[in-house]
Amino acid sequence: MEIQPKQPTVKAPPETFTGDAWFDVIAKGEEPSRIRVSLVRFAPSARNAWHAHAVGQTVHVLDGLGMIQSKGGTVVEIRPGDTIRTPPGEWHWHGAAPEHFMTHLAMWEAPAEGPETEWGELVADAEYLGQESKSTQKEPSV
Ligand code: MN
Repeated sequence: MEIQPKQPTVKAPPETFTGDAWFDVIAKGEEPSRIRVSLVRFAPSARNAWHAHAVGQTVHVLDGLGMIQSKGGTVVEIRPGDTIRTPPGEWHWHGAAPEHFMTHLAMWEAPAEGPETEWGELVADAEYLGQESKSTQKEPSV
């Protein structure tokens, strides 16, 4: 057994986050474990950039009100108790609602080789608010 003391909280970098978010690293497994767990606190309107996890990710909301979107889908509200599974390679973003803090646990694994996460564009305000132009939305199926 090993009791690991709490590590300092880290500010999320502006290259991959819009607004203010902080994370605490809870687990970073040593081989053969490749588990990664972070507690992430988002201020109102804060969100991460579009990204995809090589081995997928599970997010569990602990507090507040959040938003999540997968590429090609709509922006969805997420609430405490919700668990959201994102499959490997699926592009998405997650963060707080405009007027609410949100805290979630993020759990993922590093791949055997290569980067854990691929990062893309920051999420623009209109995109975050679900106001994308029609041309970028999915065609209706009817
Ligand atoms: Mn993610």
